[in-house]
Amino acid sequence: MFADDTIAAIATPPGKGAIAIVRVSGPAVNAVARRMVRTQRPLRPRVAAVAEFLDGAGALLDRGLALLFRAPESYTGEDLLEMHVHGSPVVAREMLRALIACGARQAGPGEFTRRAFLNGKMDLHAAEAVAAVIDAETRAAVRAALANLGGGLAAEVGTLRKRTATLLEELAAAIDFPDEVVEPERGRLASDVTSIAAALERLRADGERGRLVREGLTAAIVGPPNAGKSSLLNALLGDDRAIVSETPGTTRDTIEETIAIGGVPVRLVDTAGIRAHADRLELAGIERTRRALAAARLAIVVIDGSLPLGADAHALLAETRERPRVVFFNKADLGLAEAESAAELDAIVGSVRDADALERLRIAVARAGWGGELPDFERPHLAAVREFAAVEDALAALAAAKATLTAGEPIDFIAGDLNRAFAALGKVSERDAAEEVLTGVFSRFCIGK
Ligand code: GDP
Repeated sequence: MFADDTIAAIATPPGKGAIAIVRVSGPAVNAVARRMVRTQRPLRPRVAAVAEFLDGAGALLDRGLALLFRAPESYTGEDLLEMHVHGSPVVAREMLRALIACGARQAGPGEFTRRAFLNGKMDLHAAEAVAAVIDAETRAAVRAALANLGGGLAAEVGTLRKRTATLLEELAAAIDFPDEVVEPERGRLASDVTSIAAALERLRADGERGRLVREGLTAAIVGPPNAGKSSLLNALLGDDRAIVSETPGTTRDTIEETIAIGGVPVRLVDTAGIRAHADRLELAGIERTRRALAAARLAIVVIDGSLPLGADAHALLAETRERPRVVFFNKADLGLAEAESAAELDAIVGSVRDADALERLRIAVARAGWGGELPDFERPHLAAVREFAAVEDALAALAAAKATLTAGEPIDFIAGDLNRAFAALGKVSERDAAEEVLTGVFSRFCIGK
């Protein structure tokens, strides 16, 4: 399935750097190497060579390293040439221009990886893991994505699919040759179906944990004006990102920053104070707070613990009672006015200036956000929405099969459900994905990947 055109792109990020890498993949790689790369000895596959890079007219563009890969032993599965030049945007652009003059065309987003997929170098699941490694915001997210690069998920799903196929074969034999083949025992069929479903449920649960590690969650920091919301955000971030002020109501817009708690990215949204009586400007801020709360998984309610609880604090506590939240009674360094309320609310009591209180707060966020411990995640797991949907579909089909068996209906009735489960499982790491699926997947990549 070799492409008949040649793609080229700058693989390193824009701007100046130590090195820029320009790469080219496809049938024109030989022609490019002949015209653009001058080395002392002939280029050998997978051996870096010091080279002079020339434009089409033979003028020197830069000196650097050339690295040639021969099909199929390359990232794309095609002939591929990497040229490492000095990290000048001018040089990189000139190189790209020269490549295009040699017959290559500028690659679209993710096109190298798309070719890798089309040439069978990786399945779609692994291709998406490549993007996930690049997008990862924490070390844990990188590790989770790396676990998916190996293609282990396809093997796991493949085993379950094979078990489903075996059941289907047994059924088919019994249905086609009722006189010769004994009908499979229903209890055993039911337990096989249950065990396949249980394995899929584990995969789904792992996938959900993986999603949390990858995508993290949003926590809205809310509280009356002057309670210390901005100070808390700063303390958690460890710098002066939000503007802190003595005048109540100065945090008019929302500010968003991401920290990592136990390897999970937590987006903290600092909102304007919610207050019963407010001027118009502040009202806009309050509206934003409500929206931030609606969009967040978790609320961190900050209250000035040195003062008696005001009407706005009461209102906010009531408003967030039914949702995952952490209550922080701040400014305890000034004395605690309402120890009883704090205990009743199971609040963290302390001050943004107290490292110990901040650590207790982080632990409480982890507990309220995802039930606490989220150990490093290194098993292959479902990642794409498409994969979750396929597993859901398979689970629904297996549940229907189980219901049919339990209801004592003829076993032929479950063949359709098992067929559906079999087909759905085939979609998890599909090799012949539809064009729209591929376009959707690879358009999220950067150019040059
Ligand atoms: P926000 O309106 O809720 O964002 O409150 P700010 O973070 O702007 O803080 C309001 C004021 O309270 C500032 O003067 C902070 O320095 C002060 N403040 C915040 N947290 C503490 C704390 O734990 N102890 C003390 N003593 N003052 C604090």
